[in-house]
Amino acid sequence: MAELSVEAVLVTQAENRRYLSGYTGSAGTLLVTSSQALLITDFRYYEQVSQQAPAFTLVKQNKTFKQALRQAVQAAGAKTIAFESRDVSVGLYQDMRDALAGRGERLIVELVPASDLVEPLRVVKDEDEIAAIARAARIADAALAAALPHFAAGMSEIEAAWQIERRMRELGAQGVGFELIVASGPNSALPHARPSSRPLQEGEPIVIDIGARVDGYVSDMTRTICLGKPGARFRKIYDIVLRAQLGALAGIKAGLDGKAADALARDVITQAGFGKKFGHGLGHGVGLQVHEQPRLSHLLTEPKPLQAGNVVTVEPGIYLPGWGGVRIEDLVVVTDAGVRNLTGSPK
Ligand code: ZN
Ligand code: ZN
Repeated sequence: MAELSVEAVLVTQAENRRYLSGYTGSAGTLLVTSSQALLITDFRYYEQVSQQAPAFTLVKQNKTFKQALRQAVQAAGAKTIAFESRDVSVGLYQDMRDALAGRGERLIVELVPASDLVEPLRVVKDEDEIAAIARAARIADAALAAALPHFAAGMSEIEAAWQIERRMRELGAQGVGFELIVASGPNSALPHARPSSRPLQEGEPIVIDIGARVDGYVSDMTRTICLGKPGARFRKIYDIVLRAQLGALAGIKAGLDGKAADALARDVITQAGFGKKFGHGLGHGVGLQVHEQPRLSHLLTEPKPLQAGNVVTVEPGIYLPGWGGVRIEDLVVVTDAGVRNLTGSPK
């Protein structure tokens, strides 16, 4: 707030709201000043706020959000408020302006667009957060191991994804961390394919990208498998991706920046002649959201050093349109000495 010269911050983004307050409800807005912490929400969540966010003063939204916001801002006594410009919709911004307008449309409170107010606080995970992510990763490992023996030629991608998802629930996950991906044959050449009715076939690459959710935190991993006997092309591509991934896992540690980390894998793939077929970054942070900071990417213009306690994916891939793709993704905790791998599934 001091850096932005504002007296308050309005937090609307769901994961940021939860991270700062402990409140896990699906609706609510935080207004934080240097001396006050207010939480605006409606009747459905009054009890939940008192249980989960006792440090916050509840501002009850009895009628409209505008009215509750005006009340909260008056209680906080703030004249300059930063808001999360990448989260607030145009409609919500108009409501905020209406709520804080004085006579003649003139704003009596200044609204300052800002971004990355809370996200940088979330990049270093504490032990409790890592424990939740690790548990989600173990559930994903176990669900995959239990589901794989049931995979067979003729089973649809949708059914295969459900075989995994069902077991995640049975193993205690709150749900999936994101919509699970099972992509077979040519579909696996799409890095973010969606499961379809296409039947799995022997000998083709099958990309399985899965994550579970535990205590709000998610995991993320990818394995590429083959039913029956993999052909020479599969083996060749798989081995390059695996070599790239193992090289990155061996080299990543605190202090290395996200671009240099990406290069550990990208150089291997480029030297093998497939640099143009690895079109996405090496990895991303994982926490309350499946894609968060920090990024590991060749496209970073201002790469920052990784920090001990970052939880990131390491997921090189090679994608050949018409044939398919291979991606291998582990989830790791960055340490001063290297990484601690939270993913246990064999490669
Ligand atoms: Zn993934
Ligand atoms: Zn990922």
